[in-house]
Amino acid sequence: MSYCQNKLSRRKVIKYMVLGATIPIINTLISQAQAAKASKESVQYRDKPNGKDQCSNCMQFIPGKALDANGECRVVEGNISPNGWCNAYAAKS
Ligand code: SF4
Repeated sequence: MSYCQNKLSRRKVIKYMVLGATIPIINTLISQAQAAKASKESVQYRDKPNGKDQCSNCMQFIPGKALDANGECRVVEGNISPNGWCNAYAAKS
């Protein structure tokens, strides 16, 4: 094996080592981001609006496939009704 082939081989080994060390860090960050969502209970979520305030006009709401379908929330875990509401409500500007 020539010197160049050895050098390339070492580079690949180092790349794999860096990649191997990076993947668990990325997985941890993703898990922490998912775990950062609040529970419905902690924000007193309910499936009914609070006056005119409801999830469908909250900046944290991620709509479902249909207009009246449940969606997701950026800060609260689980399925979220477009007609729901919680203490973390933030009106769209
Ligand atoms: S923050 Fe609360 S009100 Fe706003 S979308 Fe999420 S669950 Fe609904």
